[in-house]
Amino acid sequence: MVNLIFVGPQGSGKGTQAKIIAKKLGIAHISTGDLLRASTGKLKKLADSYIHKGNLVPSKVIIEILKQRIKNPDCKNGSILDGFPRTLEQAEDLEKIAKTDLILEINISDKTAIKRLKGRWNCKKCNIAYNIVTCPKPKKIDVCDVCGLKLHQREDDVNEDAIKKRLKIYHEDTKPMLKKYPYVKINGEQSIEKITRDILDELEKLKK
Ligand code: AMP
Repeated sequence: MVNLIFVGPQGSGKGTQAKIIAKKLGIAHISTGDLLRASTGKLKKLADSYIHKGNLVPSKVIIEILKQRIKNPDCKNGSILDGFPRTLEQAEDLEKIAKTDLILEINISDKTAIKRLKGRWNCKKCNIAYNIVTCPKPKKIDVCDVCGLKLHQREDDVNEDAIKKRLKIYHEDTKPMLKKYPYVKINGEQSIEKITRDILDELEKLKK
């Protein structure tokens, strides 16, 4: 059983790495952003009203979704939390429901974050994230390599104010939260493969 938390500014690649590492370790990848985007009805309407403006969805809502999600059988060997906790309040709530073995911060500059967010295109069907300014680039500009459907950009990635607000929240709420816990920094301005290796090296140290 291993429970990890991946933290990082928007565009740091934490989602990409969480997917890769979760698959390698046979543990669940839990992205609170993905859970909110996949929600329906009233919850979806409420979540979108915050997400589209780049604001945080109220912690009370997130913690309830998370509590349900970690009951799923795919979490029996552990999980990677991607995008949670984002505030000290959420970190304290998490302490009450699960233990954490390691917190990793994947770090990039704001300049890199803005550049990457603007190039991000996703396939809703395959849940693949492409990036036309970095990589992986799709073979055709707005088409998924796997299923051939049209790619789309997240509303909060095309809205400049939402990008700025999300980065501001990262610096003002998430970074101070990190200061309260031991965590390992990973340089996010490297290739996807090198970041994966750095993360796996840190995980090896856990076994010693
Ligand atoms: P992400 O996919 O992690 O970039 O999250 C997209 C958006 O979902 C964020 O900008 C927030 O509006 C919302 N969100 C995701 N995770 C959280 C969280 N832990 N607390 C509050 N809001 C969240």
